[in-house]
Amino acid sequence: MSQEKKITMAHGSGGRATNDLIREIFAQAFTNPVLDAMEDAAVVPGNEKIAFTTDSFVVEPLEFPGGDIGRLSVCGTVNDLLMRGAVPKYLTCGFVLQEGLDIGLLERIVKSLAATAREAGVEVVAGDTKVVEGNGGLIINTAGVGFVPENVCISASNCRVGDAILVSGNLGDHHAAILSRRMGISNTIESDCAPLGEMVGALLQAGIRLHCLRDITRGGLGTVLKELAEASQVTMALDETRLPIDVQVRDFCGLMGLDPMYMGNEGKLVAFVAPEDAVRACELISSCAYGNNATIIGAVTDEKSGEAYVNTSIGGKRVLDVLFGEGLPRIC
Ligand code: MG
Repeated sequence: MSQEKKITMAHGSGGRATNDLIREIFAQAFTNPVLDAMEDAAVVPGNEKIAFTTDSFVVEPLEFPGGDIGRLSVCGTVNDLLMRGAVPKYLTCGFVLQEGLDIGLLERIVKSLAATAREAGVEVVAGDTKVVEGNGGLIINTAGVGFVPENVCISASNCRVGDAILVSGNLGDHHAAILSRRMGISNTIESDCAPLGEMVGALLQAGIRLHCLRDITRGGLGTVLKELAEASQVTMALDETRLPIDVQVRDFCGLMGLDPMYMGNEGKLVAFVAPEDAVRACELISSCAYGNNATIIGAVTDEKSGEAYVNTSIGGKRVLDVLFGEGLPRIC
């Protein structure tokens, strides 16, 4: 009898093992053209074009510097809708409460979720609660619907040769904040957990030629760029000296042996825009509430299909791959 395969922590990391699991188990069972494209949000026909997505949140601890699981549950889903150019409209929330969860803590989290929904301009229109055995934990699932305006075509497979690559701010903040909190390390690093509707709206309203957007979450910028390079069959070339990283996060990573290129955010995006629009796009993002330190970090080239790399400050070339292995579980 062949040895049975088992789920490991690596299957939840957002890296290669996750991708293999999705392709081999879920994509085969549920295959349809919309799901198979594996975008940030599904875009489906309707009276208008509708974007529809879902995500589950298992972050530990439930409250952390800069946010909590309630705020995160809105931001994660709303940002995935925004990454397809949709205007987020409605959310559903499913709560799985473990026995022993503090009611005061639950109340704070629910209020935070509601406040973040108001900030993001979405209505929570359906919900569900279950209680299970455990030790005071909480899991939240949200699903979101948004409307995609006519003529908007933002997609993982739409990065074009010549496009400028922009990030909306510093890398790795959320990941570093969660890890610091879990390890009891004292610093002032906060999660960047935020809804990105203002900046996406500003880019679309200004007529910026936006080809692709993606929020930088599990797996970090390195994983995101490698996935997009493959989806669009182009090469991403970055300039290491331009990557925006907070000095405290950089020091923390140095201390822990971590790489900010593979650390998750929860309120940052990477944008691919026509080169003529890059400076304007950067200015627009910078003018928004969560766009501090927006930077043009590189460009799309046609050197070799499906590759992403960083030109290092000492003249080397570092090829990026998707995160492999565990990374840090339960950051979102
Ligand atoms: Mg996403």
